[in-house]
Amino acid sequence: MKAEQSTAKIIDGKAVARAMRDKQRARVEALMAKGVTPGLAVVLVGDNPASALYVSNKVKACEAVGIKSISHRHPATITNEELLVLIGKLNADPNVHGILVQLPLPPHIDMAKVLETIAPEKDVDGFHLYNVGALVVGRQIFPPCTPYGVMNLLEHENIPIEGRNVVVVGASNIVGKPMALMLMARDATVAICHAKTRDLAQFTILADILVVAAGVPKLILPQMVKTGAVVIDVGINRLPNGKVVGDVDFEGVSKKASYITPVPGGVGPMTIAMLLENTIQSAERTAEGH
Ligand code: NAP
Repeated sequence: MKAEQSTAKIIDGKAVARAMRDKQRARVEALMAKGVTPGLAVVLVGDNPASALYVSNKVKACEAVGIKSISHRHPATITNEELLVLIGKLNADPNVHGILVQLPLPPHIDMAKVLETIAPEKDVDGFHLYNVGALVVGRQIFPPCTPYGVMNLLEHENIPIEGRNVVVVGASNIVGKPMALMLMARDATVAICHAKTRDLAQFTILADILVVAAGVPKLILPQMVKTGAVVIDVGINRLPNGKVVGDVDFEGVSKKASYITPVPGGVGPMTIAMLLENTIQSAERTAEGH
């Protein structure tokens, strides 16, 4: 019973992201000394307030490390063709090293086509088929920012991955699937669960590392978690009372896990840190003439 009472170490994503930012600032300065200012083009379509907030946070984070961010805001009435022309121009602009199209896009826009039009070498969100394919064969060109952030948190805490049982709850293209591929590339044994999984707990209870990205508050309860497991909560849910929570019953599970990420302040800050990382990496590749 003693282990049940132990309190998990809380992984402070804000602090890890802050430490990364200091190193990123130095890398940007080194690039600028070579005459290259990293540039990130951020495309926002429509007036979704959550998207506008995400974009403004990304722009601020860029400024904090010296990346030049160029915002392209367009009304929801923009046509598919107009958006593709804009992306074509950004692809050809040598001052742009990364292109980010904030999702979701209005329903009349062909999202898949938009993502495929972004030049793979500027696809800092890692959603282009080329980058997704690289992940499938165990390579990382631009890993998608949220799972990349999770990998960095695990590394920061020196959590072993090889040979561990990992369960990923959530199978979306932007979080769950790439997360599973990145963990497989590190020789974990990975199970992926989703909304049609029967008896979720029979999988989660086996996990040495449990990554949850479903968007369902309190989906993961203490009795579903193995004592001593590492629990990474990617979920971001706003409750009717305005409180933001993850997918994990933090209070209960933190008494059973060995490590846990809080929401907010866990994976969220890392997602933006990894976007900066990918943008700087792209500029470094340009500076090296790749
Ligand atoms: P999504 O596209 O809605 O995908 C959710 C996934 O969870 C789907 O695969 C779905 O299964 C599965 N799921 C839903 N209900 C489930 C249940 N009851 N049991 C098991 N699996 C269930 O969402 P997403 O974009 O991946 O995001 C997931 C969560 O992470 C959201 O809360 C989002 O806000 C958050 N998020 C956070 C960050 C960050 O920076 N921290 C970044 C991105 C997303 P099916 O495939 O069967 O439908």
